[in-house]
Amino acid sequence: MATQPTEQQQNHEYTVIDTAVDLARQAAPVWAQASAQVRAGLLEALADALQAHQQTLVPLANEETHLGAPRLAGEIARTAFQLRGFAEQLLAGVALAPVVDSAVAGSPPAGRPQLTRVLRPVGPVAMFSASNFPFAFSVLGGDTASALAAGCPVVVKAHSGHPRLSKAVFDIAHRVIASQQLPEGLLTLVDQASRGAGAYLVQHPGIAAVAFTGSYQGGTALWKLANERPRPIPFFGELGSINPLVALPAALQANGEELANLLAGSMTLGCGQFCTSPGVIVLLDDPSSDRFLGQLCEALAPIQTHAMLTPGMRQGFEQASAKVAQHASTLLAPGNDGAGPAPRLYTTDAAAFIANPALHEEMFGPGALVVKARNQAEVLQVLAAVGGTLSTTLWGVSDDTPANRALVQAAEQVSGRVLFGGVPTGVAVCAAQQHGGPWPSSTAPQTTSVGYAALQRFLRPVALQDAPQWVQG
Ligand code: NAP
Repeated sequence: MATQPTEQQQNHEYTVIDTAVDLARQAAPVWAQASAQVRAGLLEALADALQAHQQTLVPLANEETHLGAPRLAGEIARTAFQLRGFAEQLLAGVALAPVVDSAVAGSPPAGRPQLTRVLRPVGPVAMFSASNFPFAFSVLGGDTASALAAGCPVVVKAHSGHPRLSKAVFDIAHRVIASQQLPEGLLTLVDQASRGAGAYLVQHPGIAAVAFTGSYQGGTALWKLANERPRPIPFFGELGSINPLVALPAALQANGEELANLLAGSMTLGCGQFCTSPGVIVLLDDPSSDRFLGQLCEALAPIQTHAMLTPGMRQGFEQASAKVAQHASTLLAPGNDGAGPAPRLYTTDAAAFIANPALHEEMFGPGALVVKARNQAEVLQVLAAVGGTLSTTLWGVSDDTPANRALVQAAEQVSGRVLFGGVPTGVAVCAAQQHGGPWPSSTAPQTTSVGYAALQRFLRPVALQDAPQWVQG
């Protein structure tokens, strides 16, 4: 909603939210008690329904996001895979398995009562959809799938970038829930809502946790509100990330041209609107690095991007890249725009990057900053200056040397995921995945928002001491 709502509109929004949260509250105890089979059955049916409506959903999504039919169809497949994957996890019984310590006779510390540590759903989750994944991180996306799998109802705050799609997917889900005779409060939708309504939702006493994907500014504002509540609640926010990629001469000497093409593709994928888009490229002072930069510019220059998700996002990219241009030299200037902005590339040295926080900000779009380091020590300092990121990619560290070990350690220190080849766009959904790094990439870096461990965010451990068997079941 672009304009400030009137008092009357705001009161109406609050009433809509109160109703949605009330329904979620009523559904919470029922869903917490539901068996793994029942929960898995719902997730599988949601996946089936989403895929059954692909023909109508993809054009609608394309109208609102411009991401293109092939990408959107792929995203539906990913979303369905995710829903089914969480169902499989539930049926396998691993995710919710209790930890049991039998009683030990004698006095403490060796002696102890019988203890069973169980995981209980936290309660209704407010979920702020992402703009850049209109299926996979929206109404039925990873946050919703993981919360439902954990036994939590979800109140979705639809993203203003794809309101009609959100409503269409919600209506499909609503029918599935009704057909399984499950409480309607398992999934509710707050759409066409103002920023004030989003804040109200986060502060609502009936909400037990928040999942958020979006900007640093929006995420930080809502994270503060979650923490300022009389009873603060967990806020699982995925905010900005610049995803450094360190390309050592060892890799560039061997196949620079191929890597330049790979990187150009990753930087411009989805018009650069990926949380894992490589935004900082770190190169050592070496002839192979100079050659690589030429190859990268050549690979980027002809790429035509599609329109960005929203005019606001385009404006944000122009502002962010203009800011970088003020503090760095331009290697590939903006120009020859197609439907979307032309790719752009800037460069600076390690000392300037380290000293200037303005260069550490995310440019959400098809742009990147090349940082030239004189030596390995400077590369380590550049990574430390990044502070927190979803991913770091290291090219050319295959040998076990003290220098490479130091690089890996520095990368692990600031990242949720470290890649030793390939590019960071594309995040596999599996049990080992970690999508969430130190602040500002995530507000809860000990958790992940992609992969099956994501459901742990919405579970709270309870230790049952000397409990009868029926309680532990
Ligand atoms: P956003 O502006 O943070 O919005 C995300 C959600 O939070 C939307 O539902 C938005 O409401 C709501 N919101 C934002 N600020 C709020 C506030 N102060 N109070 C209450 N609600 C608030 O993110 P976006 O629209 O997805 O993208 C904008 C920028 O976010 C991009 O340019 C990019 O920099 C970054 N981004 C990062 C990632 C990532 O994964 N790291 C992903 C997507 C975007 P509305 O629907 O009303 O806007």
